[in-house]
Amino acid sequence: MPDRSAGDPVGDAPRRTRLAPSPTGSLHLGNARTFVLTWAIARNRGWELLLRMEDLDGERVKPGAIEETSAILEWLGLDHDGAMTVQSQHRERFRAAMERLAAARRIFRCERSRKDVRSAASAPHREDGETRFPPSLRPSLQPSSQAPCDAFRFDEELVNYRLLVDPGCEPVHDELFGDVEFDPGSEVGDFLVWMKLGVPSYQLAVVVDDAHHGITDVIRGDDLLASAARQQLLYRALGAPTPRWWHLPLVYGPDGRRLAKRHDDLSLAALRNSGVRRERVLGLLALWCGFLDAPAECGPDDFRRLVTADTLQSFVARERIPASRCIATEESIRWLRSP
Ligand code: GLU
Repeated sequence: MPDRSAGDPVGDAPRRTRLAPSPTGSLHLGNARTFVLTWAIARNRGWELLLRMEDLDGERVKPGAIEETSAILEWLGLDHDGAMTVQSQHRERFRAAMERLAAARRIFRCERSRKDVRSAASAPHREDGETRFPPSLRPSLQPSSQAPCDAFRFDEELVNYRLLVDPGCEPVHDELFGDVEFDPGSEVGDFLVWMKLGVPSYQLAVVVDDAHHGITDVIRGDDLLASAARQQLLYRALGAPTPRWWHLPLVYGPDGRRLAKRHDDLSLAALRNSGVRRERVLGLLALWCGFLDAPAECGPDDFRRLVTADTLQSFVARERIPASRCIATEESIRWLRSP
């Protein structure tokens, strides 16, 4: 971990951000908008920009997807600094963090099944499919006089571990959204940090790696805004400074739903392979940010020039009001494919 003061927000450290794609499918236009904006913000401001493949979700990582994702970023003109890193290649970093959390008694081993958690009376159903882990399901964490408590030890990788989440509000300051508050204890409860598949959860892995790489600014889609609160708890538990957060609105489709990887025909690999030029892709993304009034081709440097502090703020403000959102209309997608 870098030598910055524990738990405080990052101070004057040189600014550094990252692109952190999950190679679980082909990048689609929705992810691409987040990546292009991240790249433009970093390059305009002279920040360092790292590339990290988040490939720990073993079952969902498709063979060849790391290479394909990095080739697509290159095709779009999104360069990065230093060599690409791949999360699965440094698992010892996550184990060391787990040992640290265990020594501080912040995590506990949990043999409860998902079904146990769902059927716990106080576990409300959440729309995002996540089930709250209530304190009533924690194992007894007090050592008895006969047996020392081993619930905190991290000595077996094929078991789930959860973070002890205290009740209370966690304020998050976002550079684009302003001040927001979450209550992780009542929203998700003691969340998973390690999974019995033998891998860290997304929440732990992203914090450990961002801290390790000295990331000062995390820029990503606003589907992860609530995760920032959980991640702040982890930064504190690990004694690492919290980065600045920048959550970007995601793209909505004509059906009013967010574009997702399952829209296969909007995957960048499919578009590139069918002969679509990257200037069309970047022009469409600029249109979808409201930086252009009408579709027009745009190279990476043109895109960068469109992303000023003012256009970025008005983009975010507009997208937060559903009625004024710029959506991925069928017509704009037709322009992308037209000769
Ligand atoms: N790998 C995550 C994703 O593609 C992004 C994680 C992050 O930026 O914190 O959704």
